[in-house]
Amino acid sequence: MFEEEKERYLKKHGFEASCLKAVLFDMDGVLFDSMPNHAYAWSHSVSRFGLHMTPEEAYMHEGRTGGGTINLLAQRYWGRDATEEEKQAIYKAKSELFNQCPEAPQMPGAYALLKKVNADGFTPMVVTGSGQVCLIDRLEHNFPGIFRKELMVTSFDVKYGKPNPEPYLMGMQKAGIRPWEGIVVENAPLGVQAGTAANLFTIAVNTCSLPDQVLLDAGADLLFPSMQALCDNWEEVRNTFSPTASRTGNRENASSDL
Ligand code: CA
Repeated sequence: MFEEEKERYLKKHGFEASCLKAVLFDMDGVLFDSMPNHAYAWSHSVSRFGLHMTPEEAYMHEGRTGGGTINLLAQRYWGRDATEEEKQAIYKAKSELFNQCPEAPQMPGAYALLKKVNADGFTPMVVTGSGQVCLIDRLEHNFPGIFRKELMVTSFDVKYGKPNPEPYLMGMQKAGIRPWEGIVVENAPLGVQAGTAANLFTIAVNTCSLPDQVLLDAGADLLFPSMQALCDNWEEVRNTFSPTASRTGNRENASSDL
């Protein structure tokens, strides 16, 4: 059980109890092993414009809008913001390279976890900064019957990227839940920041070999080394945040005893 982590979270946010209803999943690096493709596309596209980005830096800045990421590099190498034209040209080059990459595979453990979440009666949702139409369409193909399109939050929905809490606030709004009724699953520091800033219990899965401390410093309430590890521990997570979910059968028996 993860009582200690839950208690620390409730105390930090001034909530009385948790009552899990929905699990909000980030997409890149959580549901799909797509970060190597993103890192490759970023580093090779920006170099054409005299900028430099390592794969690790791509992981660190994952979740930021494309324009925001380009501006960080422009500030560092050019000492100024990128113009709109530059942002568009660089992001176009990045997208073209990304689209030439082989299709990112499902993250090991992701589908098994989604099926558990669904079977337990919780709502699985996607909250992503990505606007890659092909990736979003691939959700239904890869994880059939899991996600409801009207509950998805993508870059088309939001104005600010992560680490702003906006994407998760919008996810909560779409699902009609309050912070203590949801859990976030994120792989990147900025995503973790967005989840905790929305006052949601935020689980980090370290799928990109970042130092664990980077994700803990970002505010992760709980950390697993992989999606498979989270899947293997799901029952414990569920029982911690929704004590009644695991005992529905027993509760029915108990009431008939009264
Ligand atoms: Ca991610």
